[in-house]
Order: sequence, then structure tokens, then C-alpha cells
Amino acid sequence: MPSVGTASHPLRVAIIGAGPAGFYAAGHLLGQSDLTVEVDLFDKLPTPHGLVRAGVAPDHQKIKNVTRVFDRIAALPGFRFFGNVCLGEHVTVDDLKRHYHQILYATGAQTDRSLGIPGEALDGSHSATEFVAWYNGHPEFKDRRFDLTQERVAVIGVGNVAIDVARILCRTPEELERTDIADYALDALRASRVREVFILGRRGPAQAKFTNAEIKELGELDGADVRVPPDEAELDPLSAAELENAPRSVVTNVEIVQDYARRPLSGKPKRLTIRFLVSPVEVLDDGTGHVGGLKLVRNRLIRGDDGSLRPQPTDTFETLPVGLVFRSVGYRGVPLPGVPFDDRRGIIPNDGGRILDDGRPVVGQYVAGWIKRGPTGVIGTNKADAVETVEHMLEDLREGRLLDPPEPSAEAVLHLIRSRRPCFFSYADWQRLDGIETTQGRQRGRPRVKLTCAEDMLAALGRTADCHVAGAE
Ligand code: NAP
Repeated sequence: MPSVGTASHPLRVAIIGAGPAGFYAAGHLLGQSDLTVEVDLFDKLPTPHGLVRAGVAPDHQKIKNVTRVFDRIAALPGFRFFGNVCLGEHVTVDDLKRHYHQILYATGAQTDRSLGIPGEALDGSHSATEFVAWYNGHPEFKDRRFDLTQERVAVIGVGNVAIDVARILCRTPEELERTDIADYALDALRASRVREVFILGRRGPAQAKFTNAEIKELGELDGADVRVPPDEAELDPLSAAELENAPRSVVTNVEIVQDYARRPLSGKPKRLTIRFLVSPVEVLDDGTGHVGGLKLVRNRLIRGDDGSLRPQPTDTFETLPVGLVFRSVGYRGVPLPGVPFDDRRGIIPNDGGRILDDGRPVVGQYVAGWIKRGPTGVIGTNKADAVETVEHMLEDLREGRLLDPPEPSAEAVLHLIRSRRPCFFSYADWQRLDGIETTQGRQRGRPRVKLTCAEDMLAALGRTADCHVAGAE
């Protein structure tokens, strides 16, 4: 193989997944001043930016400003985006091996963890990930339906996703109208009859996973009072002892929760109740196959083998009368065709981003982001994570541990994608869509009005015909 990484033989890298980890990896690769690199970033969705578009809550617009960083990366020489192209459907790992020296998977954690309790599959019992994807206009979730005629809703888990879901359910229509929530979700939430939302933690306030800003925001909602049962805000002796050496953020979480427990209700139309030390043991059937309630067991905390405080069920049970349940107990990665997978951990097995198969590195294949480390951390966490992987990719390049593609050509890939998936979206297409969405938003006093399916996006770009002719949709 000639020396790879020069102007005549650029290092060619395929990245699968155009979320934060994929972009940060592309940026670090293309920022190497002594190398010529070509990066093709693929995504199964027509639009880039992963969870920044489809996961970050619509009322958290500031977090979405990170897309400006992604736009700067996309403007670097050597970058291309192929949206609406799915690995395993339109291209295979073998196709990629023909054209790239290195392949990096940054596909995130696309599904949710389940609880494994009876009744979880009843109508009205959903994962938070479905609801989040739905209200954010994710094309694969736009047709989901949630029974918002129910007045009482439970959200299981006390992480930031649970907080997002509860907050969106409690926002007033006026608050939601100022966001980029999908239009259909805005209509459904306008008509919502939800009056009471319960967030359920299986451990205590000192073990909650939410962060300070997110829990504090719940106390500032226009249309909902937040409340915590005072006895559940109190720390047990083990937690109280741990708090003395806990990080400041944990202490602040506990202070905010205890402040909520002391607050009088102010008579806002909705109520958001945060409960601790309760675990769902069964989703109850109302007799028609729909959720009719949630059976909870009260927990106490004990020291686990790993030294952490774990929930232990007592023999005290109660029934929470709710008609809609969202489980928000963590995301989970899904396997990719032709790529090793650790089913227990829900990640691609790896050593610092180098994919392992039966413990041995797979030449030329890498991983970054949630599918590498599991669903933890904020958007920025993916930068250091992606840089670690790319540093290992560069080390492997220097040491000649690369794939040996027979056709390392940007032109050949374009030809392949045009033949397999004529209705792919380039970054220039995305930038036009971005302009269309934000212009429509401005006309309605909103940050943007989202297009939520590939057909509408193609039509907005005046491109319906090319897909139709190709029969690709
Ligand atoms: P998470 O932070 O891991 O929280 C999961 C929650 O589910 C925990 O409270 C956990 O309790 C609970 N849980 C797990 N298994 C359970 C079970 N069997 N029964 C009852 N409860 C159970 O996950 P996440 O909320 O999905 O968030 C994922 C990542 O995205 C996090 O890093 C989060 O900070 C980030 N995120 C950030 C923002 C933001 O910055 N605004 C917004 C959304 C998401 P235990 O602790 O007891 O296991």
C-alpha cells in the first residue's frame, strides 16, 4: 500500500452516525495538519446531528447551538455527508471495506432498557425514548400515539431524560409554542388532559442521576407546581453519611429536592410529584389491555457488594392510579450487521475505541460515543471520547494497521450511493432544509418548524422526482 494520508493517497474514513461523536471524530481527523484525510459521514436519517436534533428537549434551545461547531466541521475540505443512507440496507460493511482505510461506528444507543416487570407491554406503557423521539419529530417515530387523555402519568427513573419527559408533559401550550417541538406533538400536547405527573426514583435524592440545572428548572414551570413528599426527601443514615464527602452537585441536588418538599403548592393547574425509594413491580391492567395503574414497592437502601447504596424492596406496597407510563431507565445500543456486539452491555466491544472481536482488535474498525462507552454523559463528553478513538486510529495509520481497500476513491463512493440510494441528502441539502425550517419558524415566532419525514424534505428541496424515478422510496 502506498503511503496513506498524502495528497495523492488521502486517508479515507467512513463514519457511521452523524451525531455529536461522529462529528467530533470527523473534526479531529480533518484537523490533522500533516495529513490529507477524506471523511464520509453516513446517517440513516436524512438530517445530521443525531440526538441534538432528535433527543435534546425542544425547550432547551441553547444546547442546540453546538450545531454551529458541527457546521464548521462540515465546511472543512475532505468532509462529505450522506444522509438517508442506512448501513445494512443501502451499504454493507463489505462495501465500506472496498473504499475506506478505516471505518468508525458512532451510532449511539438507539433503543431503551426495559424493566422486566409484568404489564410492561400494555397499551399506554411506553419507553421515554419513543416519546422523546416523537416530540422531537424523528421520522421513524412521528406516527406514534400517546394517550394524552389520561390525567395521571408516571415516569420511571430519575435521570435527565425522565426530567425532560415530565417537564414537556407539564409545560403550558404557550411555553411549548416558543420551542421547535414537532407541530403534531404541539397539537397533541395542546389537547392534553394530563394534570398530574409522577417521577419515580428507586433510590433516594442523594443517588438521583439528574443534574442541578435540570432539577431546578422543574421549580420554575409556568403551569405546574412541583412537590416532593417530605418523608421521601429525608436522607437515610447511610446516604446522610455519604453526603458529607459527596461532590457539590450531589449536595445541591439534595438541597433542591428538600426545598421542593417544604414548598407550599401555589395552585398552578398541573402538579409534578417527585417520589423516592419506590420501585414499580407491575403495570396494572384496567381490564381492557390498557394501563390502569402502577403497583409500587417501597425500598430501603443497603450497601451493595460494589460499595454503592442499592435499593432493597420492603414488604410495603401501594398502587399509583395512573393511565400512562413512561419508563426512563436508560438507553441501550443496538447491534449493527457485520459488527461485533456485547449484548450484555449493549455496546460494541472495544479497547479505547479499537473494536475487539473475541478480545482481538479488528483491523481498521473503530467505535465512538454511546455505542462505545454506554449511554452516559452530556454532548460535550463525546468530544474527548471521539478524540481518544481518533488518536488510536492515527497510531494505527502510522504503524500500517489499516484496511487495504481496492477502490479508495471518493468518486466511486458517490457512484455507489447514487445507484443504491438516489434520494440521499448532502450537507448542502441539510443547510437548505435548515434555512427552510428556520424561516418558517421565524414567521411563527418559533426557532424552527421541523420537517419530519424524508418525503417532505425532498419535496421542500424540489427533489421528489429523482427518488420517484429511481423507485427508491
Ligand atoms: P440515566 O442518567 O442513567 O438515568 C437512568 C435512571 O433510571 C436512574 O435514575 C436509574 O436509577 C433509573 N433506573 C435504572 N433501572 C431502573 C429500574 N429497574 N427501576 C427503576 N429505576 C431504574 O439515564 P438517562 O436519563 O436516560 O440519561 C442518559 C444520559 O443522557 C445521561 O448521561 C444524562 O445526563 C444525559 N442527558 C442529559 C440531558 C441534559 O443535559 N439536559 C438531557 C437528557 C439526557 P439508578 O441510579 O438507581 O440505577
